[in-house]
Amino acid sequence: MSNSDFSHANAATPATTPLTTPPPARSVLISGASIAGPALAYWLARYGYRPTVVELAPTLRGGGFAVDFRGEAHLTVLQRMGLLDKLKQHRTAGTPMTFIDAQGHQVAALPPEFAAGDIEILRSDLSQLLYAHSQTHTLPTPTEYLFGDSITSLTETADGVHVTFERAAPRTFDLVIGADGLHSTVRRLAFGPESQFVSHLGYYVAGWDLPASAAPDLAARAVGYNEPGRLVTVGRVPRRATEASYNGETFCVFASDQLTYDRRDALAQRKAIAQAYDGAGWRTPELIETLWNTDTLYFDSISRVDVPTWSTGRIALLGDAAYGATVGGMGTGSALVGAYVLAGELALAAGDHHRAFARYEQQLRPYVTRCQEGGRTTGTFLAPPTQDALTTRNATLNNPTALTTMLQAAHQTSAAIDLPNYPTLLTATPHP
Ligand SMILES: Cc1cc2nc3c(=O)[nH]c(=O)nc-3n(C[C@H](O)[C@H](O)[C@H](O)COP(=O)(O)OP(=O)(O)OC[C@H]3O[C@@H](n4cnc5c(N)ncnc54)[C@H](O)[C@@H]3O)c2cc1C
Repeated sequence: MSNSDFSHANAATPATTPLTTPPPARSVLISGASIAGPALAYWLARYGYRPTVVELAPTLRGGGFAVDFRGEAHLTVLQRMGLLDKLKQHRTAGTPMTFIDAQGHQVAALPPEFAAGDIEILRSDLSQLLYAHSQTHTLPTPTEYLFGDSITSLTETADGVHVTFERAAPRTFDLVIGADGLHSTVRRLAFGPESQFVSHLGYYVAGWDLPASAAPDLAARAVGYNEPGRLVTVGRVPRRATEASYNGETFCVFASDQLTYDRRDALAQRKAIAQAYDGAGWRTPELIETLWNTDTLYFDSISRVDVPTWSTGRIALLGDAAYGATVGGMGTGSALVGAYVLAGELALAAGDHHRAFARYEQQLRPYVTRCQEGGRTTGTFLAPPTQDALTTRNATLNNPTALTTMLQAAHQTSAAIDLPNYPTLLTATPHP
């Protein structure tokens, strides 16, 4: 798709009336520096806000697989951010995947565009690009980042939110946004325990880079191997070929009741994965063995987040923290669209955060709820629970008409929002 295909996206949407007076330079604390957090920081800085991002990890987190953008809404937001061309430079080629049986014979195939959408990029590259973009020198107020820290309490007062941190000194911010993912701390502190908002959808997802000790031929071609309720895939992303230690990667999906483990305990996660693949055929044992020698593990449940109202007072949620679906729910695109709408509404409301938060939710909720639906079937599609379901899934993959229909449906869902045309307000009136 070329730029011109979507540069006039939503041209019928009336442009919002430009503001004549800039809103006051308000301070906003954002928790989480992955995708939603840096994207929001970029837009807020552009509108004259003073964003600070606190991130639990000591540095920007690497790892994670390729994520994709598809359809008009995603591409329009990227273009309005001025990031579309950079993303294209970093895009991964998208890899066709062959599903094999235990003897290595092909049983089904997936074309590259199935997972890659219009633009596919490594999650870590995307996060790095957004981080750099939120600090660009052309912004009036580049974002302040606090790494290796976490919010420990939030107390709303008449004119701000008093915040305490694990490490930094307490501070007061005008607004606080939770962009800290599926297991959001802001959501827990301001809205209630995770169990109220996060539903396990019956599957887990894991991924890691293969260590140097893995057999060189293991990831020579991109393959997926299924048994009822479990999938392992291996392959190499061409874009990473220049990384000295890169030997390929694996991605696993398995059915399981909800597991109880400490999310900071990497050994417990490895044990859970190894147990889920106990007795599996093909080269699965060899693949699972590499788990113990990798330091890049990504592991989470496939879950859906439903928060009845995304804001309370001066605190709001964004991205996976508000409407996550782990995998298959277009979480990355929805995070970027959400950041665009939230910042635009805050700028337009000129200080009235109640109005801004209400309009943000009103405009975004129907869209992201529809996108989230995809996450419901991710597990059963990738790792069908029975042999019959597996046979049916493979027949679907081998049917070009069925595949085209699925791709078209995903495109329609990802484009199902009338993006407001926020004026390019205030960039020329930087605050001190
Ligand atoms: C390491 C990693 C790998 C991923 N890999 C994939 C993948 O392969 N495929 C896929 O589809 N999706 C993946 N995701 C999820 C994907 O990035 C999100 O679904 C989507 O992009 C929405 O992003 P988000 O910024 O809302 O949430 P997330 O990307 O989940 O980011 C949340 C951020 O908040 C930080 N955080 C958590 N708790 C705190 C705290 N208490 N204080 C401060 N910061 C905190 C996290 O460290 C993280 O940086 C991955 C996420 C991470 C963090």
